[in-house]
Amino acid sequence: MTKDKALAELDQKVMLNFKGFLDEADAAGIRYTITEARRTMLTQVCYFLGGRGMTTADINLCRKAAGLYLWADSENREITWTLDSIHLRGRAMDIVPLDSQGKTNYNDAEAYRKLAEIAAKHGIEWGGNWPGKKRDGPHFQIV
Ligand SMILES: [Zn+2]
Repeated sequence: MTKDKALAELDQKVMLNFKGFLDEADAAGIRYTITEARRTMLTQVCYFLGGRGMTTADINLCRKAAGLYLWADSENREITWTLDSIHLRGRAMDIVPLDSQGKTNYNDAEAYRKLAEIAAKHGIEWGGNWPGKKRDGPHFQIV
């Protein structure tokens, strides 16, 4: 989604922090896309169902109702540990680096490092610093 749309979805209390962060990332020439900002509870529930023993067909009933794309069986995996995401409160964004072809690169450690450094200056926590399976490279938040 566009930067303006993502910023408009945020809690007003943190919007200027994220605007400062993204403006500085833009000025530094970092290429990224924003995949998600505020999230509905229904979407969070659909995410939570992944990898917990439900069939992909059943999970896709949830995903369809939430307006999400439908999963293939290979995508039915655990993608979140919580039903209480900071995204529900509009206080988080998922940001993914883009490669030189403009494609998402979830493994660009250098771009994430630069983003995290700028984010920290604006009081924003990076999920890439979280331990073990909580580690969440695209995730930036203010609790
Ligand atoms: Zn996130």
